[in-house]
Amino acid sequence: MPIQLFVPTFSVDECLAEIRECLELGWTGLGFKTVQFESAWKEYTGQSHAHFLNSATGGLHLAVNILKETRGWQDGDEIITTPLTFISPNLAILYENLMPVFADVDEYLCLDPVDVEQKITPRTRAVMFVGLGGNPGKFEAVKELCRRRGLALILDGAHMAGTRLHGAIPDADAVIYSFQAVKNLPTGDAGMVCFQDGTLDAIARKKSWLGISKDTFARSGEKGAYKWLYDVEYIGFKYHGNSIMAAIALPGLKHLEQNNAYRRLVAGWYREGLANNSRLKVVPEPPDSLPSQHLFQILVDNRDELVLALNAEEIYPGVHYRDNRDYPMYSQSEETAPRARWASEHVLSLPMHLRLTKADVDTVVEALNRLA
Ligand SMILES: *Cc1c(COP(=O)(O)O)cnc(C)c1O
Repeated sequence: MPIQLFVPTFSVDECLAEIRECLELGWTGLGFKTVQFESAWKEYTGQSHAHFLNSATGGLHLAVNILKETRGWQDGDEIITTPLTFISPNLAILYENLMPVFADVDEYLCLDPVDVEQKITPRTRAVMFVGLGGNPGKFEAVKELCRRRGLALILDGAHMAGTRLHGAIPDADAVIYSFQAVKNLPTGDAGMVCFQDGTLDAIARKKSWLGISKDTFARSGEKGAYKWLYDVEYIGFKYHGNSIMAAIALPGLKHLEQNNAYRRLVAGWYREGLANNSRLKVVPEPPDSLPSQHLFQILVDNRDELVLALNAEEIYPGVHYRDNRDYPMYSQSEETAPRARWASEHVLSLPMHLRLTKADVDTVVEALNRLA
C-alpha cells in the first residue's frame, strides 16, 4: 500500500446527518450552519469574533484589505512576511498594492523575530506570521515586537487549527484558519477570519458578501418584507462560506482535539525512529507548545534524490514550501532570507494523517534511515 502525504478523514455519518439537515430545510447557503460553526469555533478557540469564509485565502485578503483601509495604509507600504510559505499570504499583500518584505526564518522555520526587527522601515505597517506546519515558532516574541513597534499582526493559522502556545490558542489582530480539503479540519474548501476588534469583524461580514450590509438569514426575519432594499456599503468580494461546508466542519471540530493528539503520537514515533540519524535534522518543537502537527518536517542534505528514492518505494512525502521569491511577482525582492532559501532546498514533509499506523511510520523511518 502506498504511503501518502495527506489522507483526509471524515466522520462520514455525522457529516451526512448535518448535510441532510441543510437539504431538508432547504438552506445550503450563508447563515444556518455557518452561524452554528462560527459559534462553535469561538467557543473552542476563545476568540471573540469568527467569520466563516469559502477559503483562508479570502480571509487573508480581507484581513489585509480591512486593516489597510481602517488604519490608512498607503499603496507601497510594507508588510514583513516569510518566503517559506504557501503563496496565499503573500499574494494577499499584493492584492492590496502593499509590498511584501521577506524576513528570514529561524530553527522552527517560522519568522525569526530578530530578523523581523531588522527589516522594519518607516513604511512597515504589519507582520504576517505563518505557523508553518502548525508549529507556533517564536510567535510570542513577534507579537511583543509588533506591540512595541506599533505594527499590526496577522496570523496565517492555516495549519494551526488546534495549536496551543502556553496553553492558549494564539491570538493576533487577525487570525486566519483554513478548512481546505487536506488541512487538519478538512471540508471541501472553507476558511475563517477572526478579528480581535468587533468593528473589523462587522466590516468583514459585509465585505465577504459583495459589500451587502445584511445577510440572508437576518433578512428573512420579521423585517423581511422589503428584503431587496439592502445597502451595498463597500465594493466587496464573494468570500463568505456556505452551510454545506459548515455542516462538514461541525463534526470535524468535535473530533479535532482527538485527531491532533493522534498526529502528535505519529510525530513522536517519527522523532523516536529518526533520533539517531545524524544525516537529517527534525524541525524542533517550540517550548511549552502543543502544535496541531499539520506537518512533520525534516531537513536533509540529499532532499531531491531522497524524494525519488522514497517514491520508488511508494512513500510520498511533500515539500512545504518553495521559496516564494522563486515566483516572478517577487523577482524584484532581494535575497534577504538565506536560511529560508536553504530550508526551501532541504525541507521535507513526511506523511502525516490519521490513517497512518505505527507499521506505516516504521516503514517510512526504516526507508529514511537507509536512504537519507
Ligand atoms: C492552505 C493554506 C492557505 C490557504 O488556504 P485556503 O483555504 O486553501 O485558501 C494559506 N496559508 C497557508 C500556509 C496554507 O497552507
